[in-house]
Amino acid sequence: MTGKVGTNTESRKVACAASVAGSIGRTPEHLLSSREHKSVGTVVDIGGVPVGNTELAVMAGPCAVESAEQILRIAREVKASGANILRGGAFKPRTSPYDFQGLGKAGLEYLRAASSDTGLPVITEVIDPHHIELVVKYADCLQIGARNMHNYSLLREAGRSPRPVLLKRGLSASYKEFLLAAEYVMAEGNNQVILCERGIRGLSNELRFTLDLNAVPYLKDRTHLPVIVDPSHGTGNARLVPAMSRAAIACGADGIIVETHYSPKDSISDAIQTISTAELIQLIRELAALAKVVGRRIPLPLVK
Ligand code: PEP
Ligand code: MN
Repeated sequence: MTGKVGTNTESRKVACAASVAGSIGRTPEHLLSSREHKSVGTVVDIGGVPVGNTELAVMAGPCAVESAEQILRIAREVKASGANILRGGAFKPRTSPYDFQGLGKAGLEYLRAASSDTGLPVITEVIDPHHIELVVKYADCLQIGARNMHNYSLLREAGRSPRPVLLKRGLSASYKEFLLAAEYVMAEGNNQVILCERGIRGLSNELRFTLDLNAVPYLKDRTHLPVIVDPSHGTGNARLVPAMSRAAIACGADGIIVETHYSPKDSISDAIQTISTAELIQLIRELAALAKVVGRRIPLPLVK
């Protein structure tokens, strides 16, 4: 076998799986995610919302689904703000095993109900390959979190699922490692992958993470996959979220994923970095104006 990408699907899959294992020395230019492999930008469809075209994706919602009422109220406020995708974790990868781990299946049900009520497609995190079959029944997009970027069995299983995958950069992953993690998903046949820069460990003791916006133009240049930014985890501080969201759009991101709650201080997880839904409305107005400058678009809801 040579390093060339095969023409039929089967041989391509074998070639790709082998290349990920390093057995045929596939060079970075031959990765399935690379611009050399596919020059035209990929548009990923999340429940009917395209990510990666002119219109920007704004994914918003709480860090965690906490109750049916909480997610429904947030979903309605998110919808009214002009955001087009609802986020919310049902399975939470918490740093401490003693912290709230998410509502699991009940959380997925509440999320789906909020989606049906508002018409917003939903993205939620998967932390275990055995959960994918369940999560696929409720979610329009699977999120693979920073802590699981190196979880190869999870990446492979997501690659075999029928849902698009939002892959977050590991806390200290290089761009190469990030792209190769995406390759694990794509090598299984799922090319609906979105990359998300969510901040890395830096030198700052003041902030939770350092948002590496170099990643956006770098990855957009190297790959045809959409690239979005998470200014909530990227800063760990709600006061910085609007500025870094604007910076993300200015440097070419295809969208943002942001944590929001009607009463941020009452969030069970990630309260400090969560903006209020009132702030989200203001932020989206600013982003819509900025989008025009960079040739993108955010359609704003009509003010009643
Ligand atoms: C999250 O989105 O709530 C989350 C846990 O993100 P990350 O994996 O980027 O820390
Ligand atoms: Mn969070």
